[in-house]
Amino acid sequence: MSNLPKHLLAGYHKFITGYYITESDHYRSLAREGQTPETMIIACCDSRTAPETVFSAGPGELFVLRNVGNLIPPYEPDEHFHSTSAALEFAVKALKVKNIVVMAHGRCGGIRAALAQSGAPLAPGDFIGKWMSLIAPAAQTVASSSLMTAGERQTALERISVRYSIANLRTFPDIAKLEGKGQIALHGAWFDISTGELWAMNKDTGDFERPEAP
Ligand SMILES: [Zn+2]
Repeated sequence: MSNLPKHLLAGYHKFITGYYITESDHYRSLAREGQTPETMIIACCDSRTAPETVFSAGPGELFVLRNVGNLIPPYEPDEHFHSTSAALEFAVKALKVKNIVVMAHGRCGGIRAALAQSGAPLAPGDFIGKWMSLIAPAAQTVASSSLMTAGERQTALERISVRYSIANLRTFPDIAKLEGKGQIALHGAWFDISTGELWAMNKDTGDFERPEAP
C-alpha cells in the first residue's frame, strides 16, 4: 500500500477522470511526437505562483524550471552540480525554445530572506542563504534605502532578481549567440499573488509595466 497523501490521490483521481479525458488525444500525441514547447519559464518554487496556472498552459506548452527566487547563476562550466544550468542547456540546445521568461512574484520568501540582514531562520550558512547570496550586493543596496517602505523594498528586489537572472542568461554563450541572431528572446515578468496582476519587463528600460490584453 502506498503512503501517497490522500489529497494527492484525490487530486489525481479528479485529473484522470476529468482533465485527462478531455485532453487524452493531446497527451497521446505528445507521447508519440515528443515535446516541442516554444517557451521556457524560470519561476520561483513558491506554491502560489505556478506558471502553468498563471498562463493557462496545458501539457507540452511550457518548459518550466523552478528554484528559490527564480535565479539564474552566472555561466560556470566547472565540476560542480548545476541543475539550473542543465535545464537551461536542455531547453536551448535540445528543445530550441524561442522564448525564455524569468517570472518573479510578490511576497517571495527567498527575496525576503535576501533582504533580512539576520537571515533567521534561513541563516547565511544554509543552502538558501548561499543561493540568495547571488543577489547579495543588490539586496544590500535595496535594504539600506531609506526612500522605500518595506513592501517597496521587497518588490524592488523581486524585480531586480529578474533583471539579474536575465543578465546572467546572457553569460551563457549559446543563449547570447542565439539572441544576437534573433532566434531566442529573453523576457521578464512579475506576478502579484494577491491581485493576480502580471507585470511585464520593458526590454529597453528594464522597468515593469502592465501589459495590454492581447
Ligand atoms: Zn518566491
